[in-house]
Parts: sequence; structure tokens; C-alpha cells
Amino acid sequence: MFKKIFIVIFSVFILLSACTTTPSNTKGVNDDGIPQDQVDKETDTENEEELIDEEIDFQKIRPNELGRIMVLMYHQIGPEEREWIRTPDNFRRDLQTLYDNGYRLVSLRDVLRGEISVPAGYSPVVITFDDGTEGQFRYIEKDGEWVIDPDSAVGILLEMNEKNPGLGTAATFFVNSNPFRQPEHTKRKLEELVRFGMDIGNHTLTHPNLSTITSPEEMQRQMGGLVKEIQSYLPDYQIDTLALPFGAHPKEELYPYAIKGQYEGTEYHHKGILLVGSHPSHSPFHKDFNPLRIPRIRGEDPFEYGYLYYWLDYFERNPHLRYISDGDPRYVTFPEKLLDEVDLSNFPEKKIRTY
Ligand SMILES: [Zn+2]
Repeated sequence: MFKKIFIVIFSVFILLSACTTTPSNTKGVNDDGIPQDQVDKETDTENEEELIDEEIDFQKIRPNELGRIMVLMYHQIGPEEREWIRTPDNFRRDLQTLYDNGYRLVSLRDVLRGEISVPAGYSPVVITFDDGTEGQFRYIEKDGEWVIDPDSAVGILLEMNEKNPGLGTAATFFVNSNPFRQPEHTKRKLEELVRFGMDIGNHTLTHPNLSTITSPEEMQRQMGGLVKEIQSYLPDYQIDTLALPFGAHPKEELYPYAIKGQYEGTEYHHKGILLVGSHPSHSPFHKDFNPLRIPRIRGEDPFEYGYLYYWLDYFERNPHLRYISDGDPRYVTFPEKLLDEVDLSNFPEKKIRTY
């Protein structure tokens, strides 16, 4: 029997990796999407008053820090919902839905550093924006003062964090030259982003299709030129992530310049490279995690593979595949049966805990 369950779980994992179909196995799952055996254990735990040790806690919380993490990708925030454009209210709804389903915003940098600070039982989710459009961060004039547009992405993130304690405001903005398109406000905006706990990432200087670039010089101008521009506003700021424009890869011989190089005396080193929409990322503690190929999910409505609501539903039905925090960044905790999937070679200071 155990072998059979293990095979089912293993098959679901293969399906997730293959990313082609929706597993339809909902057997043993109650209306809330929680497996029946988990509900039974929770009831047992409640009956054993005061007997709270780590083992029981694990059974209740079921931390899985080898589980998958959603990295969401947005483009424009604007008045009319279309492909690549999310309305302010739909973006609010996305954040509220994530919050209500136990997700908390974490920074991409923290994921890459393995410092995922989410309370026990909750899941991290990463928000990213491409192209540095004005709707992501706009100033509007109000009573003679320039204030953050409450319907721009930054305004909405601040508002939703205020309404939903613990949601967080972490987000990474992958920008091109002239970020957020109000040049007179650029310096203030970049300074505020950093203050709000948000990150700036590289989306190249002019948003070319990198597969068409043929020289190391142009690759380095596209990467280093953007870093140089951001550092003209924030001299000490280190950009360490890149989102590939159009999701297009550079030619193989030029790929090293997507990671590292220099332009006019400005050096750059990307520790994470993000792709365009598909499926949730591996945990940074999983042996198959590749920081230079991080997949993303599109923050739009269609209930289709590659989009937010498809994957929310997927994790609702397959909670054992979702990253669930143990609340303690010193430990990497997961069910014992996943022991052959962990790789902490990049995080030698972390300790493994299984249950
Ligand atoms: Zn783009």
C-alpha cells in the first residue's frame, strides 16, 4: 500500500516536471483540498492536549522546503485587461487570493540566498515585473504634491500589505533604460523601491531579442549599460538578476556575457536569470534548482497551463508539492521520503530536518 502511494506521488512529481497535463487525482482530498489523512492527523493532534513537540508540529504543518515556488511575472498595470496588461483591481485580487491561500511575498534575492523568511505553514511567492512601464510605478500630482499613484503596482503592493498584515511588499522590477518613464522622478522612485524592500533587476538597456546579438561588446553594452544607468542614481546598488527580454536566449558562445562582464568600467554579475512563463520553480534547496534558468508563471486570468490560477488550483489539489515553510531559516525541513532530492552544497550553513 505504501509503495502504491509513493508511486502515485512520484508520478505526480514527474507530471509537474514534464509540465504538460493537469493531474486529475483528487482522491482522498476533502472540500478544502486537504488530503483526508492530513485532516485525520490534525484532529488527533487537537485531542492530545499540551503534547506539542516538534514531531507533532511537523505533522500538523507539514513543512516541505523542497517544494515548488511560484515566481509570478507581470508586465503592465493599466486600465484595460489585455494580454500582458493587468488592471489595478485584478492585481489586487491576485494579491488577496494569494494571501488568503497562505502565500507571503518574498524577494527573489532572498530565494537565491536561501533566506526564505515565511512563518511556519505558509508558502513563499515571488512577484516580478518586466519592462519598467509607468503603470508599475507612477507619481501623480495631488494638492500640489507628487504622490505614488494608488493604482500603480507599487501603490497597490503597499495598500495590500497594509490591509493584509504579513503579506509583505517584496517584488523585483526588471527595468530597461528610463525605468518607469517619468525621468524627472527616476531617482526618487529607485530610492523608494529600495526603501520599500523591493528590488531592481536587469532587463537590458534597450530590450533587444538577445538571440540576434552577435558580439560580446553589444551583449555587455546591453547588460552593463543598464547597470551603469541604475548606478548613476543609486551608486552602491548591486543588480544581480536578469530577466531575458522575450524569454529569448543569447547565442551559446555569448551566453557567458549574460551572466558576467563589464561595460565602460561598470561590472555586472547576475546570480539569477529568469525565463518567461511556464511552471513553478524548484526550491533553492532542491537538487534540480538552476538559478540561471528560473521559470516564471504569468499573472493573468486564463485558467491554462502557465498562468497563476491554474497553478493555485494545482497546489490546492497537490499540497504536498508546494513549498511550505518551517518558519526557521536555519533549517531545511521536508518529509523524509524526499531525502534524495536535497542539495545544500550552496548553503553549507543550513541544517537538514526530516520527519
Ligand atoms: Zn520585456
